[in-house]
Amino acid sequence: MLLDKTIAELAKGLRNKEFTSVDLIEECYQTINQVNPKINAFITLIKKPDVLKIALQRDAQRTSSSSPLHGLPFILKDTYNTKGILTSAASHVLNGHISQYNATVYQKLLDAGAILIGKMNMDAWGHGATNENTDYKPVKNPYDTSRVAGGSSGGNAAAIAARMAVFGIGEDTGGSIRNPASWNNITGLKVTYGRVSRYGCIAYASSFDTVGPMGKTVEDCALVLETIAGKDPYDATNSPHPVPPYFEELLNISSKDTVIGLPKECFSEGLDLEIKKSTEVAAKELESLGFRIKEISMPMLTYGLAVYYLIAPSETSSNLGRYDGIRYGLGREYFTPETRRRIMVGTYALSAGYYDAYYKKAQQGRTLFIKEYEKAFTQCDVLLMPVTPHPPTRLGKAVDDPMQNLLIDVYTVTQNPVGVPSLALPCGFTATGLPIGMQLVGKMFTESLLFQVGHAYQQVTDWHKRKPNLIEAA
Ligand code: GLN
Repeated sequence: MLLDKTIAELAKGLRNKEFTSVDLIEECYQTINQVNPKINAFITLIKKPDVLKIALQRDAQRTSSSSPLHGLPFILKDTYNTKGILTSAASHVLNGHISQYNATVYQKLLDAGAILIGKMNMDAWGHGATNENTDYKPVKNPYDTSRVAGGSSGGNAAAIAARMAVFGIGEDTGGSIRNPASWNNITGLKVTYGRVSRYGCIAYASSFDTVGPMGKTVEDCALVLETIAGKDPYDATNSPHPVPPYFEELLNISSKDTVIGLPKECFSEGLDLEIKKSTEVAAKELESLGFRIKEISMPMLTYGLAVYYLIAPSETSSNLGRYDGIRYGLGREYFTPETRRRIMVGTYALSAGYYDAYYKKAQQGRTLFIKEYEKAFTQCDVLLMPVTPHPPTRLGKAVDDPMQNLLIDVYTVTQNPVGVPSLALPCGFTATGLPIGMQLVGKMFTESLLFQVGHAYQQVTDWHKRKPNLIEAA
């Protein structure tokens, strides 16, 4: 399949006229028609004739200096505004909401010549870890359709794994890129807070929200990040920090000078044994590549869920206040039970009598996380952690037990309050064939380093190449 290729391989093939963007689009739509009915990854699929028209233009416009993303089909989580197209956040509150303008991340990809083929299913407003909190029916895992795809960027991850698009843009507030990436055997990056503009992205928790790439490999994510990162006057939280040539720098690393820390708190009670084993084996592989592995301790991580699940609902209760049926949207009665719970928790935590006891306490916890990470990075350069405590749940399980939905985030909720970047990438499979991922966490703005370590790992392993049987069966 053409879609098995990396972005760099596709760009080369297109340049050498071995195939065209039209061929890529034809292949995508064939796969989508065969596989999507089994996994429900799309909310909006752009009409094929419209996409083919653009692909023809891209083929005609291609020059030797075109972006590597020129003419490549991509997808967006349905939280990004796309002029003239429905943007739903997977919620009926936004029924009929046609965007009036383009999110910066989308505009940058259009400017690079990439081709949008669809807007993807997600947990409504980003609330969830299984992609079951959606008004558009759950996304199923392409590796086992009796299980969830993960969330909240589940549609993106499932579609990329199933070769329906080359890459996608997700959003991560507390794990929403990393969790589905690891449950669908793809690579995804939660960027440093402020690295990529959030202009035009529907807000969940504004001090945690990040926009990031999802793709089959580390090098694909590096190429996409290069295109979407950078200063944007429309987003005041966006950083002017220079954007390095991430792709070019992939090999610029001295493994013997890089220390990878394993926080022991992440490998104890509550972690599925197969995930523990795979992550430890991955650490051994990295060691055999010359990296230095060191066990460290980060006891504050244990408070991650408690802190996150006060601040995130507080911010979302404030952000969702505008969808009252007067200012925006159809009104509150359309919010799902999961979203209502979050609005209630957040409103309570922010209310006059409880502010000090809950919201303020959580913010103090956040400061302690920042200190904990600072301390960890005096002992190592990169942290290696699991992404999720267990493999993808069976459909329905997390809906019946909402606490379960929150516990899934245990390893992914402390990075967002701190702002540090984290790269999730495949590191194995369970005995029953379910994907396992790990995450590499670095200091602020060390995306290059994370890519370098992840890329080195993907050069000697081929977990990321194992695609769902579903495609072959189609
Ligand atoms: N699962 C987490 C939550 O529900 C993370 C969501 C996200 O990153 N958007 O809050």
